[in-house]
Amino acid sequence: MTFNYVAVAIPAFFIFLGLEYLAAIRQKKQHLFKFDSSVANLAIGIAERLLNLFITASFYGAFVYVYEHFALWQIPNTWWVWVILLLTTDLVWYWYHRLGHEINLFWAAHIVHHQSEEFNYTVSARITTFQAIIRNVFWCLMPLAGFHPTMVFATLVIHGAYSFFTHTQLIENLGWLEYVFITPSLHGVHHASNEKYINKNYGDLFVFWDKLFGTFQKEEEEIKPVYGLTHPLKSYSFMWQHFHYFLELNYALRRTDGWLNKARVLFGKPENLNQQIRPALERIYLPHKQELKPTVRFKAYLVIQLVAAVSLLFFVSGFFFSLNAVDKTVNSLLILVTIVNCGALLEQRRWIYYLEYIRLLLIIFYFSFWIGSIQLFLLSLVVMLVVNSMLPTKKLYLKFVYDSN
Ligand SMILES: [Zn+2]
Ligand SMILES: [Zn+2]
Repeated sequence: MTFNYVAVAIPAFFIFLGLEYLAAIRQKKQHLFKFDSSVANLAIGIAERLLNLFITASFYGAFVYVYEHFALWQIPNTWWVWVILLLTTDLVWYWYHRLGHEINLFWAAHIVHHQSEEFNYTVSARITTFQAIIRNVFWCLMPLAGFHPTMVFATLVIHGAYSFFTHTQLIENLGWLEYVFITPSLHGVHHASNEKYINKNYGDLFVFWDKLFGTFQKEEEEIKPVYGLTHPLKSYSFMWQHFHYFLELNYALRRTDGWLNKARVLFGKPENLNQQIRPALERIYLPHKQELKPTVRFKAYLVIQLVAAVSLLFFVSGFFFSLNAVDKTVNSLLILVTIVNCGALLEQRRWIYYLEYIRLLLIIFYFSFWIGSIQLFLLSLVVMLVVNSMLPTKKLYLKFVYDSN
């Protein structure tokens, strides 16, 4: 079995997250971490890491294809080319990111990164696969320019890792570095919804693109950043966080006549989208939720699921190239059901009971497959259906989880 070293990023992420939390305790700033929000952030990151496993090879394939068929120049592999490549990557990033805020269709993917009202390392996990796909279309500009795909890929790893470290409030002004790099303070401004800070600091690594294109804003001492969206989301539902803006766009498109006007909706600016659409959709998709004080048991139940999902993700990532199709499918579905469940728990949805059934059936199916007994799976299915119809299991389960009826 060959180990896929990309998986090492997962424990590394949690080590740095742990260090940030310890530093927060030392500085008496534990309030910078909120349980519900952190769980929601991590769930989104888990999904992205998982789904990207299936498509990363195609990203690299796209770079090779563009390079071999359309490269404008053949740029040599010398040391100064790496410097130019890093600068080019950062410039492409600037425009990818800026258009992600200025075009509705791209904002539908990027909005997920901005939904969190906290600002710590967990927020850096808020990337979606939709966003990764859009970003890789932009990255194809580099092999098109003539940079070798291997060099592009290596640069993207370093470039991508840097942005993790800019999501923290524990590192304050960094002196002269603020004039060269995008620092946590400058990226914090980007995540803030204060009028002065909105749509500023799109850079990832270097600060000068923002200065050049007129979007630079430093953190002002008298304006404390308020993190999150201008209209906060009010939901930790995994599905709603991912799809609400696509649904909003769909709602707007259905009420718009003519192709040209529809294109104006898709490629228009987010601030011009009718702001009444989201409340209308919230009434349909987000039924009134009761305020529930989470018990220790409830929190433990969530943490156990998160730990299980992360452990399984590490296993699937590490041995991805050795696993067969059934291993990959069942384990990936188990991870996805678990993180959807985490979001549904935070929203106190009652259908989590049925998710438990699906998860249990997946585990039994996997076990039955391994021992080669489909009868075991079918028998378990019948037993579960009988138990569900004869005993008040749903009521007992919901009482156990939510400590209510
Ligand atoms: Zn952004
Ligand atoms: Zn960010």
